[in-house]
Amino acid sequence: MKIFKPDLAFFEPAALDYPIGVSIYRKLKKMGVEIRRTTSHNRVTGIPGNTEWEKYKISKRTLVVGVRKTLEFDSSKPSAEYALPISTGCMGHCHYCYLQTTMGSKPYVRVYVNMDEILEAAKKYIDERAPEITRFEAACTSDPVSLEPLTGNLKRVIEFMGKEEFGRLRFVTKYDTVDSLLDADHRGHTRFRFSVNAAYVIKNFEPATSSFEERVIAAGKVSRAGYPLGFIVAPIIRFEGWKQGYRELMERLAKELDGASHENLTFELIQHRFTKTAKHVILKRYPKTKLEMNEEERKYKWGRYGRGKYVYRDDEQEEIRELFHDLVERYFPQATIEYFT
Ligand code: SF4
Repeated sequence: MKIFKPDLAFFEPAALDYPIGVSIYRKLKKMGVEIRRTTSHNRVTGIPGNTEWEKYKISKRTLVVGVRKTLEFDSSKPSAEYALPISTGCMGHCHYCYLQTTMGSKPYVRVYVNMDEILEAAKKYIDERAPEITRFEAACTSDPVSLEPLTGNLKRVIEFMGKEEFGRLRFVTKYDTVDSLLDADHRGHTRFRFSVNAAYVIKNFEPATSSFEERVIAAGKVSRAGYPLGFIVAPIIRFEGWKQGYRELMERLAKELDGASHENLTFELIQHRFTKTAKHVILKRYPKTKLEMNEEERKYKWGRYGRGKYVYRDDEQEEIRELFHDLVERYFPQATIEYFT
């Protein structure tokens, strides 16, 4: 388990009025991280680097600590009602990551310290919909597990949701820094999902994240801690030898989770797709990527506001579905599957 140590940190002065801000400040000081001031977490200037790539790389290892002012939550349909904002940005370098296009000019990692206010806002959303359940997704714009050793924010949210009869939390991670969350009083109200993939995909497209082994060991711990568990396989890529690659993935998952409860286990399966804008950004950031993005070999799926995407052809999609249907049924017969194209 490797704890994220930023290369540089920025603090909004007001962040130090909050105990979480002070605690993060002390931890960073102890780690020997250089700390600077910023007037706003939304406009950080002075990130070093001579080229655009250098700036991007350093930004991804720059932590910005601030006070979240917008307490209106975005919708996160269909998997949850709202996005819960406890952090924004990620130190990972997954080539296909949607943050490439959505956070283009601000790739630095932001964490928020006014958790009482954020949770108060969540409480209002829950109360408005009660007795219907309100689900919150905490990983819409970042990977909150990777930041947990520094902030402790996720544990706070998990325990808050544990006490809320009508509130539920979910998030997904590619990191294994879960130890501090194992004793959280979650009461089954938080679904912990791990993003996993074939060894080829992890090796080629997911630099600066935890390895497959680390993620699966963490998943075993989380499952034993009684959390509802899920896996997201995304993006599913048809690389050379993909069927064998995904067979091995499921075999290894089943082996690692041997003895853990498979009841209530979920698999979300998302096939690789890309937009023209994403392709452009990815090729600029990672020009040597092996990510296949040939429009001519894909089917164009029209989207809202003219923002269509390139997906696999129908027969290819069907083949992927069949393979995963067989694999999940063989190794995890009690699990439920959701497909997204
Ligand atoms: S770990 Fe997740 S959020 Fe971070 S770069 Fe990879 S895909 Fe994006």
